[in-house]
Amino acid sequence: MKFIDEYRDPALAEKLVKRIERLSTRHVRLMEFCGGHTVAIMRNGIRQLLPPTVEMLSGPGCPVCVTANSDIDKAIALSRLPDVIITTFGDMMKVPGSYSSLQKARAEGADIRIVYSTQDALQISRENPGKSVIFVGIGFETTSPTVAASVLQAKSENIRNFYVLCLLKLCPPVMKALLNLGEIKLDGIVCPGHVSAVIGTHPYQFIPRDYGVGCVVSGFEPLDILLSVAMLVEQIESSKPQVEIAYRRGVKPEGNLKALEMMDKAFEVAGADWRGIGIIPASGLKLRKEYEHFDAEKAFTLKLERVKEAKGCICGAILRGVKTPMDCKLFRKVCFPEHPVGPCMVSSEGACAAYYAYGAD
Ligand code: SF4
Repeated sequence: MKFIDEYRDPALAEKLVKRIERLSTRHVRLMEFCGGHTVAIMRNGIRQLLPPTVEMLSGPGCPVCVTANSDIDKAIALSRLPDVIITTFGDMMKVPGSYSSLQKARAEGADIRIVYSTQDALQISRENPGKSVIFVGIGFETTSPTVAASVLQAKSENIRNFYVLCLLKLCPPVMKALLNLGEIKLDGIVCPGHVSAVIGTHPYQFIPRDYGVGCVVSGFEPLDILLSVAMLVEQIESSKPQVEIAYRRGVKPEGNLKALEMMDKAFEVAGADWRGIGIIPASGLKLRKEYEHFDAEKAFTLKLERVKEAKGCICGAILRGVKTPMDCKLFRKVCFPEHPVGPCMVSSEGACAAYYAYGAD
């Protein structure tokens, strides 16, 4: 298949592995930030292909996984209000909050509908004028423009029963937070492909400049990832950390200006609560004042119970790259994709789900 097969060519993969082996003279730790990359690495056995000097760690780039229990509790509490329809992407349904999940709330009678785009949610608002339709807005810079577009459209059409529970997060600030935490010494970051298609590469420039850590934006095919690793090892071995793109067919340095403009129109930067890390200043998005009518947290009063974390679940540490799913005592014993204890086992981009699906050493 055009644009797929050439990025899965075994002979080229072997050449890249040999190049990495040749270049790599010392142990390095690279973090693949994005959950999509974790899945691609596990699915294609890339960790096993790499020389022992190259260690790959999973990062916090799974939007469902990093959503804090307190925020999932808010979505569930909103679903229990009268005359409310919750609209959400499917992978949020099974994510456990402190006491329940959206799936359980739906089984108890809440009107919760899975949508495939924010436009679907808007359409449900138009078709149900007597109800309040709330979209659970999770995601990174990839999803944010579509949420922005829905809010701008709702305003232009004067749709008054559409709301967003705005839990959107930004990637560069959490990278900075991880580097500042210093729990793990990183030598390089495989930067997210889809997020970078929106934001470009300029927002990563502080990473080599202030932390001496290289960044390479990667696509999602095996050759994309191997090329990114080779470029990072080259940067490390030559002591020249910089921001590079190994995914030129998807990412431009300036990003997607139209999408950025739309985000800027609807949102302003705010603090956000990240699972396993806590509140990181300026790492999320909230609706600007002129759009706050659409903000579900402002429109509805919620009575929330005390936030509780799942006992024994180490998703937080996995998202910080400090532990792997294999370190969790519940992995494959108590926690399964059908009965997840934590979000990293729910999302298709979660590290635990990827380790479960594709095996792990
Ligand atoms: Fe949490 Fe389950 Fe992953 Fe353990 S295996 S960290 S319980 S999601």
